[in-house]
Amino acid sequence: MDAEEFRRKGKEMIDYVADYLENIEQRPVYPDVEPGYLRQLIPTEAPEDPEPYDDVLKDVERVIMPGVTHWHSPNFFAYFPTGNSYPSLLADMLCGAIGCIGFSWSTASEATLVALLAARCKAVKRVQSTNPELSEPEIYSKLVAYTSEQAHSSVERAGLIGGIMMKKIPTDYNYSLRGALLKKMIKEDKAAGLVPFYLCATLGTTSCCSFDNLMELGPICNEENMWMHVDAAYAGSSFICPEFRPLLNGIEFADSFNFNPHKWLLINFDCSSMWVKKRADIIGAFKVEPFYLKHDNQESGESTLNLNKLLHWQIPLGRRFRSLKMWFVFRTFGIKQMQAHIRKQVALAKEFESLVRADKRFEICAEVVLGLVCFRIKGSNELNQTLLKRITKNRQIHLVPCQLSGRFVLRFCICARSTESHHVHKAWQHITQLAFELLQEHIN
Ligand SMILES: *Cc1c(COP(=O)(O)O)cnc(C)c1O
Repeated sequence: MDAEEFRRKGKEMIDYVADYLENIEQRPVYPDVEPGYLRQLIPTEAPEDPEPYDDVLKDVERVIMPGVTHWHSPNFFAYFPTGNSYPSLLADMLCGAIGCIGFSWSTASEATLVALLAARCKAVKRVQSTNPELSEPEIYSKLVAYTSEQAHSSVERAGLIGGIMMKKIPTDYNYSLRGALLKKMIKEDKAAGLVPFYLCATLGTTSCCSFDNLMELGPICNEENMWMHVDAAYAGSSFICPEFRPLLNGIEFADSFNFNPHKWLLINFDCSSMWVKKRADIIGAFKVEPFYLKHDNQESGESTLNLNKLLHWQIPLGRRFRSLKMWFVFRTFGIKQMQAHIRKQVALAKEFESLVRADKRFEICAEVVLGLVCFRIKGSNELNQTLLKRITKNRQIHLVPCQLSGRFVLRFCICARSTESHHVHKAWQHITQLAFELLQEHIN
């Protein structure tokens, strides 16, 4: 493909993308294919000779699209949102063109792990300063980290990858992690000879969007010399609205904080941003200086240069130029429109909540704070499981479940930018219709 063809095909692709997004509602939100469907549709080997670009493009609808779950359909209410906007798509294209290897930023899962590794390094140094005879592996076996039972699975994985014990602490009736239980756990573990060193708190848990109590947890962590990492992957975007900022109270105690602009801030996947209180702690854990990456910068001093080299902040060396799409989106939407986007989606969730509350057969299972509603039919887990199975089978809308206090719960999350009030009402009508049929069967 030469530049002339690229100009032509590029314009066609923009049209295809715009048509796709503007007419996405007409596609079933959830694919009607079996895993492995693709195997019959594609050859077993790459073609020996080049194929015309148009043939490749034609196959997108024939081969690829039938297997796609349309995350940007207004009928997609599963998981959490994933960002999407036209300026962000354009910036992503430019990012590909520039194609530089930016040494910065990471996913939420990686942020949790990076914070844990930095905390581990710090804890080892602290223990060795009073017990110089202990080796690093000996110290690792004594280290203990904490998170809530509602934390994302990536926190548990960070413990596995970091080779340290990760304990899950039960939450209160609001699914919030509280200070008293953490304190009790720390006391018991210290008495058993363990070294508490890390807490991953969550603002906006994946299952039910609950908030851990930073005002209680923070001072305990500071007192115990424990690293507090705050995972706000989804909820973090809402803090651009002043009315949601009280949810951040206690953040001053945190050592690191992360949220995913790619979830709820109109930025396309992937884009996750992490803050650390003391850069030196992260760099202390990750810094290596291979010869080929040493280059003097006459203008800036050595020390700031090293601290700013973001390759010392993360696991991969190279990174895409993600900040470009943030810059495009922030400028073309402006704070006001981004706030309006968050507020609209929260309002839609509240609307859905009131529909559920008005129906005596259903119950709300967790406080609705942002764009997620957890609900269920009053009745057995089996009943709710069957309801979700039928929703999935019908393919009109897409939801996923969670488990709260041993109960099977349905999550309804406002995800797509194109979701409007009528989609929410239609979804509720659909859910209640399926529930009605189900309950009739149970009576008969
Ligand atoms: C989505 C989510 C994650 C995982 O985010 P990635 O960027 O995909 O790693 C972690 N924590 C919470 C609370 C989430 O909602």
